[in-house]
Amino acid sequence: EGRQSKPYHMSKVAEFVGLDNENVVFQPEGYNPSGSFKDNGMSAAVTHGKMMGAKKIICASTGNTSASAGMFAANENMECDVYIPEGEIAPGKLSQAYQFGTQMIHVDGNFDDAFTRSLEAAKEPGSYTVNSINPFRIEGQKTIPYRALEFLEWETPDWIVYPGGALGNTSSCGKCLMELHEWGWIKKIPRIAVINAEGANTLDVLYNGKFNDVELRWNKGNADTELIKNYYIEMDKKHIRPKTKATAIQIGKPANILKGLRALEFTDGVVTTVTDKEMLDGMSVVGLNGFDCEMASGASIAGIKKLRDKEIIKKDDKVIGILTGRQKEPLL
Ligand SMILES: *Cc1c(COP(=O)(O)O)cnc(C)c1O
Repeated sequence: EGRQSKPYHMSKVAEFVGLDNENVVFQPEGYNPSGSFKDNGMSAAVTHGKMMGAKKIICASTGNTSASAGMFAANENMECDVYIPEGEIAPGKLSQAYQFGTQMIHVDGNFDDAFTRSLEAAKEPGSYTVNSINPFRIEGQKTIPYRALEFLEWETPDWIVYPGGALGNTSSCGKCLMELHEWGWIKKIPRIAVINAEGANTLDVLYNGKFNDVELRWNKGNADTELIKNYYIEMDKKHIRPKTKATAIQIGKPANILKGLRALEFTDGVVTTVTDKEMLDGMSVVGLNGFDCEMASGASIAGIKKLRDKEIIKKDDKVIGILTGRQKEPLL
């Protein structure tokens, strides 16, 4: 039986983060068919696109989204156009998309420019966008916590820990937990911990009051969207560009920030930041247990360790760490 996208005990990682092996599991989503958790949401989105009669799948991506979109489009005999910003690419992931026969459209500009172009293109009849604003992706990604909780026989852990990029996972996990709680499948609500890269830490800045001394909250649906807008204006003015070697979470303006805040409110969540070096250490120790994951996934490990060191995660807490993707890029 091959590796599966279900939780595993990893003794060396447990020791590294400072938890007993029986209290912590890691779920490597890299064993999905295109090598990342993106497949969970993409299968739902492409299915919906097909139901709607779409002939062409469209996305803006530099990485795992394009690999996943291209794979499902090829499976379904659909076209797939990928809009990529010049010079902001993860070669390993893009070469996967090439192999699946996607058409690459190079856009002169940054990711936001490529994204805007892709949304224009998606207005064409028969075209269908699968970018992170697509709600079916959020629905499909609920299978990640479903699988984790099923493994734990619906005994909810104290924590579920994710790297934070566009915050699709955070949003999806929050919605999943709201529903499971409402339906009575779980009694206790695990806390979500979102781990940002130091060089792409918009959520950490806003959530933890590092901009204008205001802690951004969902606030029962009345989030301070002006604060977000002002921070983005400040970022643009000061030419602050997201910068981390973990390209999957190199995102300055998370598309799902509001839904993410809602998830954090429902689960009494926390947000923290780790450095590139800490992420590399995290992914390395996963490797020592015979699993490979990409650098962004190392954020889950580094984040658990950091929250343990600060005693936010307690010694006997039960923790699930999500390893979002498999290693695809050359490390040297
Ligand atoms: C997309 C991606 C992320 C970021 O996930 P979000 O849901 O956008 O926060 C993290 N790790 C990997 C490997 C990814 O592909």
